[in-house]
Amino acid sequence: MNQQIAFIIEIQKIDIDLLKLEEAVKEAFKGIKETENVLKAKEERLRKLKEELLELSKKIGMEELNIKSYDERITKMKDAQKLIQTNKEYNAMQKSIKDNESLKKKSEDDILSYLSSKDEVDNEALQVQKEADELTHSLSEKKDSYKKNEKEFDAAKKDFAGKRALLVGKIKKEHYAVYETIKRSKKLPAIASVTKSGACTGCYRMLPPQQFNELLSEKLFMQCPICSRILYIEQDNSLA
Ligand SMILES: [Zn+2]
Repeated sequence: MNQQIAFIIEIQKIDIDLLKLEEAVKEAFKGIKETENVLKAKEERLRKLKEELLELSKKIGMEELNIKSYDERITKMKDAQKLIQTNKEYNAMQKSIKDNESLKKKSEDDILSYLSSKDEVDNEALQVQKEADELTHSLSEKKDSYKKNEKEFDAAKKDFAGKRALLVGKIKKEHYAVYETIKRSKKLPAIASVTKSGACTGCYRMLPPQQFNELLSEKLFMQCPICSRILYIEQDNSLA
């Protein structure tokens, strides 16, 4: 194989490894942000549920006070009723007692309905709290894994820097410039192998036969006429 090509392939291997590590760091960061957003929404929901619980407790307390005052009124009216002389007054008092009794019944029903709502809100709050706890736990795991990925990436960058610089020093400046330009514009791979049938594995289009034959001679630094990636023939391919 053309030595220049072999070095560029080595450089590309390093770049692909670094890119993978960099992407893992980015993915981990994205995962943290996503979890943080979901957790924030859960916490907001929990805050609202707690407000609802407080509101329901207030309503129940108010209806309990109402019942107490209806009871007091009913007792007073019943006492007064005993002293009434006329039927008309007696009946009027009886009606007032009944009215207060139905108001009391209404308050009792309201309390039952508030208690049932409170149960529902309580259950949801428990569930949301459980989910928030799980998210908090998962967030801390994700942060640990992010730190680990970041460390690996930094270590790999240091590890590879010397090796890569050595390789870059061995290839012609213009060849390295071509590699870097394609890497920037097309992303990796910037150097692509050619299949036995003569297709560029960068863009999967067939090379013109004459160019393919020239490439098979292995002495050329050649770019794909379609995607402009640097081309090479796989070792076992060229032997076949
Ligand atoms: Zn191509």
